[in-house]
Amino acid sequence: MSNTGLDAETFDAFLDTLKRFVRERLVPAEPRAFEEDFVPDDILAEMREMGLFGLTVPAEYGGPGLSVDQYLEVILEIAWAAPAFRSAMAISTGIITTALTLDATEEQKREYFPKLLNGAISCFCLTEPDSGSDSAGLKTRAVKDGDYYVLNGTKRYITNGPKGEFYLVMARTSAENLPGNRHVSGFLIPAGTPGLSVGKHDKKMGQRGAITGDVILEDVRIPASGLLGGVEGTGFKTAMKALDGGRLSVAATAIGYSRRILASALKYATERKAFGEPISGFQLVQAMLADSRIEIYAAECMLRDAAKAAARGERVSTNAACVKVFASEMATKIADRCVQIYGGAGYMAEYEAERFYRDTRVYRIYEGTTQILQVVIAKSMVKEFAAAV
Ligand SMILES: Cc1cc2nc3c(=O)[nH]c(=O)nc-3n(C[C@H](O)[C@H](O)[C@H](O)COP(=O)(O)OP(=O)(O)OC[C@H]3O[C@@H](n4cnc5c(N)ncnc54)[C@H](O)[C@@H]3O)c2cc1C
Repeated sequence: MSNTGLDAETFDAFLDTLKRFVRERLVPAEPRAFEEDFVPDDILAEMREMGLFGLTVPAEYGGPGLSVDQYLEVILEIAWAAPAFRSAMAISTGIITTALTLDATEEQKREYFPKLLNGAISCFCLTEPDSGSDSAGLKTRAVKDGDYYVLNGTKRYITNGPKGEFYLVMARTSAENLPGNRHVSGFLIPAGTPGLSVGKHDKKMGQRGAITGDVILEDVRIPASGLLGGVEGTGFKTAMKALDGGRLSVAATAIGYSRRILASALKYATERKAFGEPISGFQLVQAMLADSRIEIYAAECMLRDAAKAAARGERVSTNAACVKVFASEMATKIADRCVQIYGGAGYMAEYEAERFYRDTRVYRIYEGTTQILQVVIAKSMVKEFAAAV
């Protein structure tokens, strides 16, 4: 993304409004989001009204054009609330807008940016039943038929899948694997296209209200104008570039939620008494609180450093991987400490510590598992070393 962003004063005012919205509207709506397993309609309408789905649409297409660093500050704030809310909008503002901005044709930008500005829920469809980390091993086929493509395949664990208004689907346009993964192409497909169907909401460990599901393509026939960028073989590159931003966004989410979790642990520690005094007075409890604060601060510094570089237009794949690994591993540690500080209550579903523990676990898995990102980081270190000798 090369957006220059809002001026500082306008952005700060927006962030203040957003912070209030998160605390006064989203947090109180959490029980309803869990109950309905999605963002309740009235809250979704308010999020759309605030323009949250189009935040990163470039100014030349009528959007506010937030810069990467501004956008990540927004995610840090939204992530204070349960993951359901961020999940509904952040595919649109993140991976989808980045892919469109970088690689869509002018016609595709004119078609899809207005949809995002109107609050469209969108989906990024890469993972399949037999390919996740090995994403280029996908089987979904797109076969050219005159001025059309015909797609067949199944996409798995797709965020917002059951509620998507349009889908960016990665499919192979060559039966053979090609160098540079040029067998993968991207396709923009509106919901309601004949042959495209969606599965039920997956039953997950946590993150209730942030939905995933299958997206099934059976002889889905779309005009060739739906091929992202109008060129075959560029889909994988687009996906990887978009995922750099996606990883920063997951890191920001993990940090924002960790702030909430630590606030909860701190409040409980000051209220709960043992041996006649608040447990926050015990040094071993203090160590858990302090370690959490130290790690959140470190993660914020890493995130903001990578975000500034990305906003300058630098490619930040390695540092995005570093901060995603650090922040996601951190969030699960902080959630674990929160359970510990709550004691027995931390294990009871009646208290929020239990759901924090379940909600944070996935940050270490999606948009690149910790292991895959360790490989990415180490490979780039070896490459840099080889180039320097
Ligand atoms: C809640 C949720 C939302 C999601 N949303 C989306 C979405 O919107 N769109 C989408 O396309 N996908 C989505 N996914 C899929 C997600 O990106 C994948 O689950 C993830 O990339 C891991 O792939 P996998 O599940 O196939 O695991 P696998 O690739 O089977 O990995 C299994 C284990 O093997 C390890 N492993 C694999 N290869 C290597 C290697 N080379 N070296 C070392 N270790 C390795 C992994 O780290 C992991 O521990 C979502 C998943 C979840 C859980």
